[in-house]
Amino acid sequence: MNGYSKVILKKGKDEAVRRFHPWIFSGAIEEISGQYQEGDIVDVFSAGMEYLATGYLLSGSIAVKLFIFRQQLIDKKFWQTAFESAFKLRESLGLTDSKLTNCYRLIHNEGDGFPGLIVDIYGELAVIQAHSVGMYQLRAQFSEILQEMYGKKLKAVYDKSAESLRKMTGFKVEDQFLFGSPKETIVKENGHKFLVDPVKGQKTGFFLDQRENRQLLSSFAKGRKVLNMFGYTGGFSIYAAKAGAKEVKTVDSSAAAIEIAIRNMELNGISDDTHSGIVADARNFLTSMDDHYFDLIILDPPAYAKNLDSRKQALNGYKAINNQAIRKIAPGGILFTFSCSQVVDRQMFTSVVTAAAIEAGRKVQVLHQLSQPADHPLNIYHQEGTYLKGLVLRIL
Ligand code: SAH
Repeated sequence: MNGYSKVILKKGKDEAVRRFHPWIFSGAIEEISGQYQEGDIVDVFSAGMEYLATGYLLSGSIAVKLFIFRQQLIDKKFWQTAFESAFKLRESLGLTDSKLTNCYRLIHNEGDGFPGLIVDIYGELAVIQAHSVGMYQLRAQFSEILQEMYGKKLKAVYDKSAESLRKMTGFKVEDQFLFGSPKETIVKENGHKFLVDPVKGQKTGFFLDQRENRQLLSSFAKGRKVLNMFGYTGGFSIYAAKAGAKEVKTVDSSAAAIEIAIRNMELNGISDDTHSGIVADARNFLTSMDDHYFDLIILDPPAYAKNLDSRKQALNGYKAINNQAIRKIAPGGILFTFSCSQVVDRQMFTSVVTAAAIEAGRKVQVLHQLSQPADHPLNIYHQEGTYLKGLVLRIL
């Protein structure tokens, strides 16, 4: 016996758990035994008191997130084994010991059996981001495990949970270094250099999920005039410039991001003649830009829909920006268009881009359907975890 509180499900509400779905909604619960609070580890039982799974408690409509379907003690050894398994995947992908790339996602939520946890590796720095109290409470243990696993290769662990925890749970905490101290971090991705600032930057500091899509962009960029809309610190821009683009513009509403984008260009030896960074709102820029000027456009907006209530408005937003880009891109131009909203699935996204194309009245070919890379794995029992969707279009 491990002594965890018991969550007992209502009769007939155990089907999803038996199919290994990692969430339990509050409406499925008959009772929770003993004293408990948010973040506690609990064992989940059917109405007939058959053990089903183990997870941690949350306070919202999702009441439990599950991480294991076999009863056992959830101690440091348990998490160590889970971290090692995650590491092995990245090792097999060639990410842990590569001369060209030293940044990758080590832990990706449900996809790695850690609901509510992200760990990103930026060279000698690891950034932990908890989206739940259950995972946040374990941060010191996770930091220890990381140090043991990486040894001298790891110089710092930063906990960047303040924003994600406040949004998801209302809990107020401070970001902090759990080990080591702040230092400017320069990472390599496919041989390109990037400055990453987890303290001031967005999310954990860099958008690692676009690595393969940026690489794909390289093959289209030669000789083109590129607009990297929602460009953040210039990820796609550097690949484009290095692949021989004639001109690259990075546009983002964040002045701090554009400042780093410009520094990233210098780091990679790209001249001001080729690249410029512009602080602007996407809609304004797209509406006022000249027709047929750019012939390679990237649209990688932030998640327009954070939940189901905002989905309709989000779809209109995606349609509007895609319509502008498709209408204005030069004939033969290439559009890389993305959505990272979890509640907008691939079919919906494709429909919205199709509607935008119809309104623009242009002939459009789909060249690639894009997703997230394998260091952002999807748990097959948790399709809700699919988030990054992209299309590469040729517009005639
Ligand atoms: N493509 C980037 C990641 C983009 S994240 C990469 O590969 O690294 C989304 C970006 O959109 C953020 O940098 C954010 O600052 C920017 N953004 C959000 N709202 C915007 C708006 N209305 N206009 C322009 N940029 C915006």
